[in-house]
Amino acid sequence: MRRIVLKLGTSVLTKGSPNLNRQRMLELAQQVAALHEAGYEIIIVSSGAQTAGRSQLNFPDLGKSVPAKQMLSAVGQSHLMRIYQDLFDIFEITAAQILLTRDDLSHRVRYLNARDTLDTLIEQRIIPIVNENDTIATEEIRVGDNDNLSALVASVVDADLLIILTDQPGVFTDDPRKNPGAALIQNISQVSDELFELAGGAGSTIGTGGMVTKIQAAQIASRSGIETIIASGSEEDVVKRLVAGERLGTRIQAAKDRSESRKRWLLTDRTQGALVVDAGAAKVLLRGGASLLPVGIREVRGEFERGATLAVHTPDGREIAHGLSNYRSEDLGRIRGRKSSEIVDILGYSYGDAVLHRNNLALL
Ligand code: GLU
Repeated sequence: MRRIVLKLGTSVLTKGSPNLNRQRMLELAQQVAALHEAGYEIIIVSSGAQTAGRSQLNFPDLGKSVPAKQMLSAVGQSHLMRIYQDLFDIFEITAAQILLTRDDLSHRVRYLNARDTLDTLIEQRIIPIVNENDTIATEEIRVGDNDNLSALVASVVDADLLIILTDQPGVFTDDPRKNPGAALIQNISQVSDELFELAGGAGSTIGTGGMVTKIQAAQIASRSGIETIIASGSEEDVVKRLVAGERLGTRIQAAKDRSESRKRWLLTDRTQGALVVDAGAAKVLLRGGASLLPVGIREVRGEFERGATLAVHTPDGREIAHGLSNYRSEDLGRIRGRKSSEIVDILGYSYGDAVLHRNNLALL
């Protein structure tokens, strides 16, 4: 296990107070830095922008309107990031801000852009810090809460594990604040309707997500083949201990194999065009684990945009794979048969060496 999405809720970052708690944030940054140092790839999904905005403005009475919240996010997001930058500076780690909306993750081209940017940051050993782009997110394009956002991000980056830290030790059989007999559920093999009912009662007052959105997130992750752990952010060294395999909090298992889930998605998707490749490229692709480069492409069929799902055909017309195209058809017509190093010269830009990247390619 290498790639981990860590979701930090407002209640974790504030320790339940009205302000971001620097000491708590330092503890978390320290753990993230240690894991980073050990070779793990960490992506943080962090709330706290509105809270930071509110304290920055000295708790104005703005009501609960959407523009007021958006304004608070606009003020607070830069403060939130500055704190992270300062903290990661201590460990000589660079952090980067990524602001997303649901649209960015469901629209193909933007999905590819988000994925490519996140991948590039991770490759460069930079820690991406993701939040919802609250200032422009209207109702239709909002994810709405960072629990769900963290699961979508985990799926985009193909994470091995999603850790959701909150102000409770995990999911309980009943509301622990009302029923002292409520027990922590350690392991959930499948997210069920009963589980959503159980989660209905719990929830903190600060921050958007109660337990329901955490279960929703776990369900999305599980369906994408990713395990989720919901645990308390107050537990000492919680991130390090979870990664080391200690049984804390509630674990929600992945419903299926990760590569299988991505593959199924690509293979069942309607294709918008096709690429005929030469025998050499076909052979390399069929061996598995390779990307399709422009040099191996003989013919481009159909008109499509970057992000389209394409079929790959051998010279004798056999369909061997589906993949997401990094380039639109018009540009492929110009770079097909050429070396990847020539892409920039020919097109004036490049989305990378591969036309179909191996991460976005499934063999039939
Ligand atoms: N994006 C919001 C913020 O940073 C938080 C949303 C959430 O906590 O679910 O203030």
